Amino acid sequence: MSIENLIKRAEDKNTRKLKNFENKSKNIKVGIMGGTFDPIHYAHLATAEFIRDRYKLDKILFIPSGTPPHKSESITNKFDRYNMVNIATENNEHFLVLDLEIKRNKKTYTIDTLKDLKKTYKNIDIYFITGADAICDIETWKDVEENFKLATFIAATRPGISLLKVQEKIASLKIKYNANIIDVYVPSLDISSTYIRNQLKENHSVRYLVPENVENYIKYKMLYRYGE
Ligand code: ATP
Ligand code: MG
Repeated sequence: MSIENLIKRAEDKNTRKLKNFENKSKNIKVGIMGGTFDPIHYAHLATAEFIRDRYKLDKILFIPSGTPPHKSESITNKFDRYNMVNIATENNEHFLVLDLEIKRNKKTYTIDTLKDLKKTYKNIDIYFITGADAICDIETWKDVEENFKLATFIAATRPGISLLKVQEKIASLKIKYNANIIDVYVPSLDISSTYIRNQLKENHSVRYLVPENVENYIKYKMLYRYGE
C-alpha cells in the first residue's frame, strides 16, 4: 500500500473512532498521552496500553504537541508527527488521536489542552499519563496547580529515572498542590525518540522499536536523514 493510502486509511479510522467517542453520553474514563512523538515508538504504545488495562480506562487520547514550549531544538514537522501517531494507533480501538495541539499556532501548554477537553467533552474523567521524567519536571509547566485540579496524573516508571526520586517528588507534589498522582510500575522499555533519531541518523536499524508502518513512513519521507 502506498504511504498516501496508509495515511488516509489511518485518518479515516481515527475519524470513525472519534465520532463514536463523541456520541458517548455516559461518564467515561479517558487517559491522555501527550508528547512530541518525534517519532512515536513502542514504549509510548506499551505504556498507554498497560495503563489503560490496569486502570480500566475507556479510551486513550494521543495528543501530539504543536510547538512544545520546552523543546527548543528543531523538531520534525507537526503533521508528520501527527501522521505517524495515527498510523501507529490505527489498529487499537481504544486509541484515538486528537489534533487540537497541532492546530494551535502558538506554543502549546497542557493546561490549555485540559481546559479545551473539559469544555468539549463534558462527561470525561481525565487521567493524564506521564513518564517518570515528565512528572519530575512538572513544576516547570504553566499553571501547575490548575493542571492538578483538572486531572488525575499517572506517572509511569521509565528506565534511567530513579524510583526513589520519583516517589519523593510525588509525595511533595501531593502536599504542595493537593495533587492526585498515582505512580505505577510499567514493564520497562529503555527506548526514547532521541535514541531512535540517533539510530536513524547513523543508519542503524529501528526495526521492532517502532511499528513497521511508522518505519515505512520515516523511510518514505526521509525523516531523520534516514540512510544518509
Ligand atoms: P524524546 O527523546 O524526543 O524526549 P521521548 O521518547 O521522551 O522523546 P516524548 O514524546 O518526549 O518521547 O514523551 C511523551 C511521553 O511518553 C512522556 O510522558 C514520556 O515521559 C513518555 N515516555 C517516553 N518514552 C517512555 C518510556 N520508554 N517509558 C515510559 N514512558 C515513556
Ligand atoms: Mg521526552
